[in-house]
Amino acid sequence: MKTNKLPKIDNEINFHNRELFKRHKFDGTIKYTCLFCKEKKDIFSMVSNNGERMICTMCAKKYFGSPMIAVNTFCIGIKSHINELKQKR
Ligand SMILES: [Zn+2]
Repeated sequence: MKTNKLPKIDNEINFHNRELFKRHKFDGTIKYTCLFCKEKKDIFSMVSNNGERMICTMCAKKYFGSPMIAVNTFCIGIKSHINELKQKR
């Protein structure tokens, strides 16, 4: 189910994920924390912009419809894509 209201971003978790990613990248033994549901998962269950704005693929589907849209609109924040989505509402 897709929902439009996004959870508030915890800057401490965001910072922590970013630092972990800088050091460990795609090391599958490292657990990152989803910014939305706060669950700890490995990097292969996450989407982010180089560790920035990291959320799990479950939340990506729930809030954005797909992990790819989540990366474009939330993690990277491509403006044209966001505007496109707004117009569809
Ligand atoms: Zn999540």
